[in-house]
Amino acid sequence: MSIHAVRPHIDRKAHIVVIGGGYAGVLAANRLRRDPDVEVTVVNPRRAFVERIRLHQMVAESGNATLDLAGMLDSGVRWMVDTAVQIDADRRAVRLGSGGVLSYDYLIYAVGSTGAVPVAVPGARQFAYPIGELEQAERLQGAIGRLPSHAPILVVGGGLTGIEAAGELAEQRPDLKVTLLCGGVLAPSVGGPARRSVRRQLSRLGVEVLDDAVVAELGCDHAWLTDGRVLASAVTVWTAGFGVPDLATLSRPPSRSRWSAMTTFCSTPSRLAIWSASKTRVPPAFSGFR
Ligand SMILES: Cc1cc2nc3c(=O)[nH]c(=O)nc-3n(C[C@H](O)[C@H](O)[C@H](O)COP(=O)(O)OP(=O)(O)OC[C@H]3O[C@@H](n4cnc5c(N)ncnc54)[C@H](O)[C@@H]3O)c2cc1C
Repeated sequence: MSIHAVRPHIDRKAHIVVIGGGYAGVLAANRLRRDPDVEVTVVNPRRAFVERIRLHQMVAESGNATLDLAGMLDSGVRWMVDTAVQIDADRRAVRLGSGGVLSYDYLIYAVGSTGAVPVAVPGARQFAYPIGELEQAERLQGAIGRLPSHAPILVVGGGLTGIEAAGELAEQRPDLKVTLLCGGVLAPSVGGPARRSVRRQLSRLGVEVLDDAVVAELGCDHAWLTDGRVLASAVTVWTAGFGVPDLATLSRPPSRSRWSAMTTFCSTPSRLAIWSASKTRVPPAFSGFR
């Protein structure tokens, strides 16, 4: 089904703007482009497609985490290196960091998440190294690369990202002393047998796992735990939690009338104007998306 079947009043190609050229944005753009009645423009802050799931490998210098974004997008998908700084839903326009404005008929919101460090932990913002974004991972890679043998590394966060980061660093830099601080329990999202297996693998790689270690404060070369322990740290990698990009907060929500219309749009999928590509139900009427 073409977009004109669901929006017959549009007598030109519908313009779909995709904010974010990550996994969700690229997939959405390529699938939407199959509809001959749409034009698709992707806005992404860099020329690279970032494989975030490989950032820990990039940090440990065992792999690459970027691909050429142009090579990921189907021919016919337009794209630009820019940052969306505000969405004006009433005007159906996106203001760009470069100063330009991009109008759209439909908007795909696919900005992903950020690698966040909490303000509530004193010293964390100053001394911790998050790993969730390309530029953060590059900074961490530089710091790890400068470490001498036997330097202690703390990885904060016993979830999957922390486990991957600690394991990869220990495997690639066996000369370092890697400790994983879990803040409660190792790998809380998996069951007992999988957790035991993860623990065995980490132990085999020489990673010390401290299940109940909660960081209370960070210094330039130490972490203070809530139970009073003090651990030496040349680099502290922060994987405990992700943040939300502030684009939606900075944007103009639909006006009241538009908002009630939007609620109707949501229950009438053919007229939904803004979609979140990552986790949201896809309107079934827009067949090009599926
Ligand atoms: C180290 C690490 C390991 C991981 N391992 C796994 C794993 O093994 N398995 C798994 O399923 N998941 C893993 N994840 C999570 C996975 O990477 C994310 O779930 C996934 O990247 C989300 O895809 P996305 O397209 O929604 O967002 P992203 O991949 O983050 O893409 C969003 C894009 O939008 C861009 N953007 C942001 N703001 C703007 C703006 N204002 N204007 C324009 N563009 C913008 C970003 O720069 C980025 O290019 C891992 C994450 C990390 C950090």
